[in-house]
Amino acid sequence: MDVKKVEKMVAERGKAFRVLIVDDEPRIREIFRDFCELTNSVEVDMAENGADAVNKVENGNYDLVTMDLIMPEMAGVEAVSKIKKIKPHLPVIVITGNAT
Ligand SMILES: [Mg+2]
Repeated sequence: MDVKKVEKMVAERGKAFRVLIVDDEPRIREIFRDFCELTNSVEVDMAENGADAVNKVENGNYDLVTMDLIMPEMAGVEAVSKIKKIKPHLPVIVITGNAT
């Protein structure tokens, strides 16, 4: 990743990129967070289940969501569908460690 390029883009944009990381496994959230924080241009917020994620999207202003599929409370598929109703243009990337 070209860190300088990302920082230049963000400086031109006038604000940091805000990413919401959704996963029920703390270790996975930490890996994503560490990756996002390679530059100081990404603000990271985290949610541990779908319900928490939907609540955060309703009240926050994110540029990107990364979504796990298998989680307690509300699974990823339902959360993505609710998020798309609240913020139709918010990009959601589904990332899962589960093969099934
Ligand atoms: Mg999971």
